[in-house]
Amino acid sequence: MVANDAALSTLSELYAGSPGPRNFVCVSGEFDIGAGIVLDGSPQRGNRGHLGHVMVDSTGPTCVCGASGCLQSYAGLREILAAAGHHEPAEAPAVAIDALVSAESPAILQALDRAATGLGIAISALLNLVEVDTVLLGGGYSLLASWLVEGIEREVRNRVLSARRTPVQVRPAPLGPDAAVIGAALNAIDTVRRNPNRWLA
Ligand SMILES: [Zn+2]
Repeated sequence: MVANDAALSTLSELYAGSPGPRNFVCVSGEFDIGAGIVLDGSPQRGNRGHLGHVMVDSTGPTCVCGASGCLQSYAGLREILAAAGHHEPAEAPAVAIDALVSAESPAILQALDRAATGLGIAISALLNLVEVDTVLLGGGYSLLASWLVEGIEREVRNRVLSARRTPVQVRPAPLGPDAAVIGAALNAIDTVRRNPNRWLA
């Protein structure tokens, strides 16, 4: 099945937990930054999910979409690497970032801190509109959660009104970087489950 990777990741994370959270946002950063929303156990299909193009700094750089100050410019995996001076990674961007963190590169830690702040601002905007208490970091972000969670939680605490009475949990998604392909497989299986006669005829 071909679909948005954040939407597919969200679908797989919904079925991964037993039982998992019933209300959550899954933020995925494999290509563009996307976000899937699950409310009362159901994926919200009307959600466009383009979290990467939420503005986090009105004075920020021009984005590929033509607007300025988008989250993508700060927290896209390739943009995090570029901010630390690495433009063409030989491996997957999240793996390259992880290797630089292990080598204690100050530039990558600074870029990750900036990314976490941007993610926290954009996620807070979303959480002020929809009632969820869990944020899952999916795709490449699941590998980098140790360096992102604290900054995201700081912004959520300061910006989300309901977080003062209901704390929001931010954590890596259980299925990690494979979530999108697992979600695609689940989507294909679901097509058969919903209309088995079509496949038996
Ligand atoms: Zn944009």
